[in-house]
Amino acid sequence: MKPTEKPRVALRSRAAAAPKRAERRLVGIPVAPGIGIGPLFATSEARPEVPRLTVAAEAVEAEVARLDVAVRASRKQLGKLRERLAALPDDISTELDPLMEAYQRMLAPGRLLRGAHKRVEARQNAEAAISDEAEALAAAFLAGTDPAAARHAEEVREVARRIVRNLTHTPFRSFAGLPEGAILVAEWLRPSDAALLNPAHLAGVATDEGGSDGHTAVMLRALGIPAVLGAAGLSSAMKPGTVAVLDGATGTVVLNPTAETLREARRGVEAHARESRRLGRLRHLPATTLDNETVELQANLELPAELPLIAKAGAAGIGLLRTEFLFMNRETLPDEDAQTETYRAVITAMDGDPVTIRVLDWGGEKEIAALDAEGLVPTVNDDNPALGLRGIRLLLRQPELFETQLAAILRAAASAPNAGQVRVLLPMVTALHEVRASREIYERVARRLRRRGERIPDKLPPLGIMIETPGAALSADAMILETDFFALGTNDLTMYTLAVDRGETDVAHLYDPLHPAVLRLLQYTIDAALRARKPVSVCGEMAANPRLTPLLLGLGVRSLSMNASALPRVKQKIRALSMDECVRFARRVMEQADPDRIAAAFADFEKE
Ligand code: PEP
Ligand code: MG
Repeated sequence: MKPTEKPRVALRSRAAAAPKRAERRLVGIPVAPGIGIGPLFATSEARPEVPRLTVAAEAVEAEVARLDVAVRASRKQLGKLRERLAALPDDISTELDPLMEAYQRMLAPGRLLRGAHKRVEARQNAEAAISDEAEALAAAFLAGTDPAAARHAEEVREVARRIVRNLTHTPFRSFAGLPEGAILVAEWLRPSDAALLNPAHLAGVATDEGGSDGHTAVMLRALGIPAVLGAAGLSSAMKPGTVAVLDGATGTVVLNPTAETLREARRGVEAHARESRRLGRLRHLPATTLDNETVELQANLELPAELPLIAKAGAAGIGLLRTEFLFMNRETLPDEDAQTETYRAVITAMDGDPVTIRVLDWGGEKEIAALDAEGLVPTVNDDNPALGLRGIRLLLRQPELFETQLAAILRAAASAPNAGQVRVLLPMVTALHEVRASREIYERVARRLRRRGERIPDKLPPLGIMIETPGAALSADAMILETDFFALGTNDLTMYTLAVDRGETDVAHLYDPLHPAVLRLLQYTIDAALRARKPVSVCGEMAANPRLTPLLLGLGVRSLSMNASALPRVKQKIRALSMDECVRFARRVMEQADPDRIAAAFADFEKE
């Protein structure tokens, strides 16, 4: 975990200069542990760029439709924001409600949208049309005598900026003005935005929207940035520059902290650092239970920047390389040579330890601009992206994308010095024919590379599948016959089993990996792999939670992969358990169908 406090002198002078405001405590979802103290910085201050194009006459209708889709998305976002503000203490909601109302009024059919439509009909592109119409309206406000003209002008510009952001799918990527040691605040953050953050320069991240195991949360945990997501009303209630205390373990964000709150937070920062040092000493100890069973503890990797964290955690390899993050935040797709280099660098850095590379898992909330730019993904987002062309479905639809990646993995596996075992992992599998089609492509790519004279491993790296949909889990007995290993993606498995979006704040209370339905799917999958004597690991967030370690071990799992920061705590837990007690515990849990009884079984076990 990074030191998260800005230098005290600077903090004190800021706090002293600010007018006295009452302390306010907002609560969200704890996502990545650690305490951050620093001034708040709003990403939404970043202005999206407005492209300017002339629309072809035959494309005008489609351009109007594109504008309307973005307006609807903006309305939906604001409606949600307003709904959530209503649940806040009166002083905050009374202050902010008129602003939300003004935004929503401007998004209703009226001058702004009528004017923008006319401009598109005159062949301006949607982004330019809405921005120019907003500017014209702002100028008209400012020319009048209304004392609130300046405010109205800013409101209409802000509404236009939101529409442009939705039109261009602009990630909030301008972190340029982000002061060192600040707490970043946003309404929501895309996984690609989170991938741009530099943990060394940030005290924390807090958003209004987001869920505990969405990809943004996964990324923030991987980077070790203290984070709270889903803190309703935060981005509207905050004043940029205000000092705040963020606690990523309890999910609180305290605005304008009192001297006592600040003192307590500083004590928390020190305690956290002490605990990290203590856990760091476990690095060279084996992950072995009291009765001498060894568990393989590996790390999940999203970006090469995490490699030092992985080395520090003492991981025995990479159990899940989420390659989609390598495709984000760039204008063009990495070609075969560029990918080969990246995978080679990761395999080399792991110095003989195994590396499991998951092929591109595009879809859901993971947007990749370069795929859009190359026309490889649908341009109009599905209403239900989690159920759309995600993961292996896209790769089978765009085999060139798939083949390029497989070729790069094979070349990297053969050319990295001191390479350990490399494995290939397929995401979002639901049907056996997807596995068969993938294997055919895999073998075809290998044959082609050999013909081309490329060096690839004599024996092809094992090809495994993520078990992260109920469809795959319930056909695990058939799937295992045609695959070399399973990796349990408990994040999506929970989401798809319970029909709960893993990144959605409103249903976060229903997202429960301990739901009996999820546990039964885990058990069924693990049993199928064990019967077939093939490896099975868990690489979803369940693997990172030491409370769940005895259950997973008791169910028969001997390989866990998680964000590097979580690894020492899981190792500490394993070293205090005996496999016997884990098996008994898992049996007790699996006998229950009532979530309350499952919770009680955990409470009893932890008391023992
Ligand atoms: C999962 O779904 O549990 C998983 C590990 O994959 P991802 O989080 O990348 O969707
Ligand atoms: Mg997944």
